[in-house]
Amino acid sequence: MKTVALVIPVFNESAHIVESLAAILAVCRQLARESRCEPDVLLVDDGSTDGVLAVLKTRFELGRDVHYLRLNANYGKEAAICAGLATMRGYDAVIVMDSDLQHPPALIGQMLALWQQGNSVVSARIFSRCSKKTVKGLGRSVFYSLFRLCSGFDLRNESDFKLLDKSAVDFYLTLPEKSKYFRGLVHWMNFPTAIVDFEVPVVAKPDSSWTFVKLFQYAIRSVTTFTALPLQIVTIFGVLTFLLSLVIGGKAVYDKMTGTALDGFSTVILLLLIIGSVLMFSLGLIGVYIARIYEEIKGRPAYIIDHGASMVRLDAKS
Ligand code: UDP
Ligand code: MG
Repeated sequence: MKTVALVIPVFNESAHIVESLAAILAVCRQLARESRCEPDVLLVDDGSTDGVLAVLKTRFELGRDVHYLRLNANYGKEAAICAGLATMRGYDAVIVMDSDLQHPPALIGQMLALWQQGNSVVSARIFSRCSKKTVKGLGRSVFYSLFRLCSGFDLRNESDFKLLDKSAVDFYLTLPEKSKYFRGLVHWMNFPTAIVDFEVPVVAKPDSSWTFVKLFQYAIRSVTTFTALPLQIVTIFGVLTFLLSLVIGGKAVYDKMTGTALDGFSTVILLLLIIGSVLMFSLGLIGVYIARIYEEIKGRPAYIIDHGASMVRLDAKS
């Protein structure tokens, strides 16, 4: 029988984890009864501070029902996914899914079937969200439009609910960059992929545990790790301000020669403001990329495993 693992990043989910995990394990047991596979479930605790481990221990036997890996700080979902994939490397297929039931476990069977038909990647794509329209939803649309503009990849309906076979996991893990964007990179890898559509259900917990600041940083990080196109905006600004200066400069010389030159105080102020803000914006943009290079070049790992809390860790299969 092929080996299958579920990797589930968890951050401060103690209020809902028991219910979510019970639903996920029920699907796993059903698959085992049908003799299709017996998935191992790995929870990657991304430095939760709400006592999720204690909650888990009250209901599940760690190391048997589920495996638990704790990172020693909150490194973000991307790092947690990487830690999970690295731990489960060697399984024939690994499925990454959220811990809040927004990725319906009922889809796992269908994803496995598509994998068994020969697809290296099975990607669950969102065709609609049951949640009401929010400011964050608007932010999400703006981000994906910008992302598409800059990188050419349309990730609007992509989710992190994905099945990756062994070769896709290996390839993903060998990508040298520290700062990874899971859904973007898997799309970019372009392995033979099957799509499953799903509707994001309304779940008990609030829409998202991400704050605006965290989401904004995540958005900037995702775009800048994926494409350098925004840097070209600086060049475009340069060209535009140069053209503007040609027009205004020409007019100034003409006025001078015809003796109609005015004081032009407002024009000077306006020009200073425009050029100043364009320069500051451009410098900021370059700064963001330099920060990315700096972080990558430092070569620090994207996460550190908390070995003290990880006795129940499943040893990676090789
Ligand atoms: N998550 C994580 N680290 C974080 C934030 C979130 O591991 O810093 C996990 C979280 O527990 C959940 C998944 O990532 O399993 C998706 O998070 P959430 O539901 O808050 O975000 P959404 O994508 O639904 O907006
Ligand atoms: Mg969620």
